[in-house]
Amino acid sequence: MKPMHGAYLYKALKDKGCIIMACNTRICVGIMNGLFRAAKESDSALVIELAKSECNSNGGYTGLTPAKLSEHASKAASKTEFDVWALHADHTAVKKGTDEELVEVKKLLTTCIDADYSSFAIDASHLFNFEGNGVEEELGDNIRSTIVCGQHIKQQYQEKHGNSEFGFEAEVGEIGRKDTEGMILTTPEEAEGYIKALNNAEIFPQILAIANGSTHGNIYDENGKMIEQINIDVQQTKEVAQALRDMNSEVRIAQHGITGTPLHLIKEKFPHGDIIKGNVGTFWQNLFWDIIKEEKPEFFNEVFKWVIETYSEKAKEKGAKSDDEIWGKFGKFATKQFFDKIYALDIEVVKKIEEKTYEEALKFFDAFKANGSAQIVRDYIKTINN
Ligand SMILES: [Zn+2]
Repeated sequence: MKPMHGAYLYKALKDKGCIIMACNTRICVGIMNGLFRAAKESDSALVIELAKSECNSNGGYTGLTPAKLSEHASKAASKTEFDVWALHADHTAVKKGTDEELVEVKKLLTTCIDADYSSFAIDASHLFNFEGNGVEEELGDNIRSTIVCGQHIKQQYQEKHGNSEFGFEAEVGEIGRKDTEGMILTTPEEAEGYIKALNNAEIFPQILAIANGSTHGNIYDENGKMIEQINIDVQQTKEVAQALRDMNSEVRIAQHGITGTPLHLIKEKFPHGDIIKGNVGTFWQNLFWDIIKEEKPEFFNEVFKWVIETYSEKAKEKGAKSDDEIWGKFGKFATKQFFDKIYALDIEVVKKIEEKTYEEALKFFDAFKANGSAQIVRDYIKTINN
């Protein structure tokens, strides 16, 4: 079953008090089916996504191409007969903004469109002019790159689907970036100026990723011990969303880096409806390896050893304090290295991974207040088709 136009999910669920779960399925084995079963069971809209670093024409570090990811997701959707889901290109990074780089990025976007992707994130947040005067100058290269890529998607998507509605996420403020005083957060003025500039160029994202204190992946204390993700600045996030509402924008927030955030904090403290898309990536990878550790200890040890041997030096340069921290931060690179073994696991183990994913995904959907959200999307589509 093919993915739905991403814009439908975001537009239908804007201001509905829920967050759409977007999962980075770096490993599809068991996890993809588990996610779709949970989405079906709770009738929650679902986004499947991988970033450019994770998945591209060369396989990224997961070994998956856009076509392969699409195949895995569509198969799980068909098996569960679940319809309200989008396939999203997470962090399509633009790091230099040169013509050469933009040609490469556009090529990848075309590959994604060919693979039935229905939602796209352009991440040019690294392009920030610290010497710039005012928001427009500071964000000039980000704005320009996002417009170029947005126009490309618009034209190609329209050609393929005859529909100008696709999911579009833009990014202002690099997630997890720190200066000497701590995390750098996106201000309401930045978000407002950024969206205004995109809209002036007829580029209309539905969602905006901002820097609001979270960090991608597993996080550790100064002793190398894994800790919870509790740095998300809820007040700042609300203020950015309010600034967007005040300018009559339909854009709402995408929350990155949720892994490690306690579920009760998500359920009770997150501004559902201000945040409408929540990305959960590393959590699923952790779940996979936790089960392998129990069920296939020899395989786990082989992978663990490879990660420590390959990345120790690099990790220590970056301040990693324990083998657990090296594993937690660099373990993702084992996905491609051990691809064949991962995708040839026995059915009993795959079933265990699927069951655990299903259970955990239901808890996330609950914390995201997403139960029943798929029906809101179906009803929305009826109104636009009439
Ligand atoms: Zn992210």
